[in-house]
Amino acid sequence: MATRIIDGKATADDVRVEVATAVAAFTHSTGTTPGLATILVGDDPASEVYVRNKRRAASAAGIADLHVHLPGDAAQDEVIRVVDKLAADPAVSGILVQLPLPDGLDAAAIIDRIPWQKDVDGLTTTSAGLLARDQIGLRPCTPSGVLTLLDAHEIPLAGAEVVVVGRSELVGRPLAQLMLHRHSTVTTVHSRTRNSSDVMRRADILVVAAGIPGLIGREHVKKGATVIDVGIHRVGGRLRGDVRFDELLGHASHLTPVPGGVGPMTIAELLRNTLRAAEIQRA
Ligand code: NAD
Repeated sequence: MATRIIDGKATADDVRVEVATAVAAFTHSTGTTPGLATILVGDDPASEVYVRNKRRAASAAGIADLHVHLPGDAAQDEVIRVVDKLAADPAVSGILVQLPLPDGLDAAAIIDRIPWQKDVDGLTTTSAGLLARDQIGLRPCTPSGVLTLLDAHEIPLAGAEVVVVGRSELVGRPLAQLMLHRHSTVTTVHSRTRNSSDVMRRADILVVAAGIPGLIGREHVKKGATVIDVGIHRVGGRLRGDVRFDELLGHASHLTPVPGGVGPMTIAELLRNTLRAAEIQRA
């Protein structure tokens, strides 16, 4: 079987172009520009790179870059004051607090200050509830990116056996819910699942977000299944995923590489969420 490699960069580029066009139309018709406020607390080098990439992508899409950098010793109430100010500012469509926050800050309490209409990471308790109820709201970016990749490759979700490996609030859990709303038969595998290989081998679509490099190989995958690898790890100076990519060539029908698979989709979906947030606030 020839395995089709899913090119996440190409799909992400398509989304970025689509969002940039829609942002230009929004700006033209409303006289206001969607704005993304990123909040970085401290000087963690990896977080600085992630935030820089998000800001650049926003600017390239015509979204106003409204960045706030706070010192690493900022107090909880200081961070909350900044979030509240941005929440009340009509120029700010979306608010993103870069995680992880320095030790001593209560990330959940800070995130929950973001109004759901501006929650472009989809991580507040309210956004989680709106997702659970399948109501209008903003969905977490990486799970949305997985769905966009599957749709772009015309991989049917309705009725499909989907197995999601991992149940984090950021990826696994919201992804399982999104798939359920798309009428898949969804099973979540996690660290305490019994006979997890048997469960994974049932999947027509296997999405892996366990955060363990090389966890998944040919023995976990039904022949002809689609495999989406969310994991990202730096191993020996190279990026790799949770899936042993080479083992699945000729075995999976579709497969995402790392890098160049799910990774580029996350920022593209952040841009889409920022535009949606601006639209929700105008409605
Ligand atoms: P996490 O550590 O919060 O969650 C991992 C989940 O995997 C947990 O629910 C745990 O129960 C489960 N798990 C652990 N060991 C397992 C096992 N042996 N079998 C089955 N399940 C197991 O991680 P996360 O935030 O969900 O991220 C997962 C991976 O995805 C990481 O490598 C992370 O870097 C990557 N990630 C990538 C992007 C992206 O943009 N591509 C975004 C977010 C996360």
